[in-house]
Amino acid sequence: MAKRDYYEILGVSQNATQEEIKKAYRKVAIKFHPDKNPDNPEAEDKFKEAAEAYEVLSNPDKRERYDRFGHQGVGSGAGGGFGGGMSMDDIFSQFGDIFGGSGNPFESFFGGGARSQRQRKGSNLRIKLKLTLEEVAHGSEKKIKVKRYVSCDVCGGNGAKNGTALRTCATCNGTGQIRKVVNTMLGQMVSSSTCPTCGGEGKTIEDRCDKCHGEGRILEEEVINVKIPEGVGDGMQLSMSGKGNVPKRGGIPGDLLIVIEEVEDADLKRDGINIIYDLHLSFVDAALGTSVEVPTIDGNVKIKIDAGTQSGKILRLRGKGIQDINGYGRGDQLIHVNIWTPKNLTDKERNILDSLKDSPNFKPQPSKSEKSFFERMKEFF
Ligand SMILES: [Zn+2]
Ligand SMILES: [Zn+2]
Repeated sequence: MAKRDYYEILGVSQNATQEEIKKAYRKVAIKFHPDKNPDNPEAEDKFKEAAEAYEVLSNPDKRERYDRFGHQGVGSGAGGGFGGGMSMDDIFSQFGDIFGGSGNPFESFFGGGARSQRQRKGSNLRIKLKLTLEEVAHGSEKKIKVKRYVSCDVCGGNGAKNGTALRTCATCNGTGQIRKVVNTMLGQMVSSSTCPTCGGEGKTIEDRCDKCHGEGRILEEEVINVKIPEGVGDGMQLSMSGKGNVPKRGGIPGDLLIVIEEVEDADLKRDGINIIYDLHLSFVDAALGTSVEVPTIDGNVKIKIDAGTQSGKILRLRGKGIQDINGYGRGDQLIHVNIWTPKNLTDKERNILDSLKDSPNFKPQPSKSEKSFFERMKEFF
């Protein structure tokens, strides 16, 4: 099947000016645009045919060769069809020229104007930060060493030698996107993909910056001051905006994400905003009463143990817990009393205890009104 005449396709005369050719193509392209003619292979052929005609006639060199030698002159062969000619990508990138600055009138049909005008954001950095219970309780300030990409100081971040201006990418006309019309069982779908030439940036570099080799960023070690608020918890993530990586060739830096790892304390166990401490008392101290030192997040504190204190009793040190991260007050330290029963006794000790054995005072006398361990625990939480 012979190819149709390019002038005929666009409906212009052989003497048409460039402006007339452009105008004519615009009309035909809109008429047969795949979005206006879904599921219409005939329209698609016409659309492609017109694009090919325009491609040749809009170029003075090609047009002259076409005028002299016909289709052979512009290397499009005589085999009809479109193979080897323009792809849909080429056609759509042509649109920037013929439809003016804003590009394609069908923009909105192409799944939103997701052109790369919006600022690109760099990747986030994630680091783990170990904190002791004391640091959790009081908050802390840490100096963290991070390796992150920062803007290159030589080129100012655009990656070009001495910061010279970038060129608009010829492949995508600066849009950073390549559009494809794909025929599927459901009809024609338009998909856009990142331009392979410029990687979606819409611009290309002529001469690369010596320092960053065109990346526009360099890896640098930075010491960052981090203020950790009181009351953070294991696994919690703090984010410092703008302290992550700067993207290649300019944009907004990502964030620094600090994941808290709580180091377990040997004595004090955390339970939400409260701190639990297991106190072990000899049964003699528990019977006679005493005062003992217990560790807290604010250092050792002396507490009084009443005579006759029972095992399982819970003492409360008000305000010696952890500040709620959301500002809902401070927790307490709960001291869980455990009475220690001696395991090894000398003969003398055994004799003394033996002599006390039958005293009615040594018989367990749990009062009926006394609450169970479970009930007591419930009061605290
Ligand atoms: Zn540079
Ligand atoms: Zn490109």
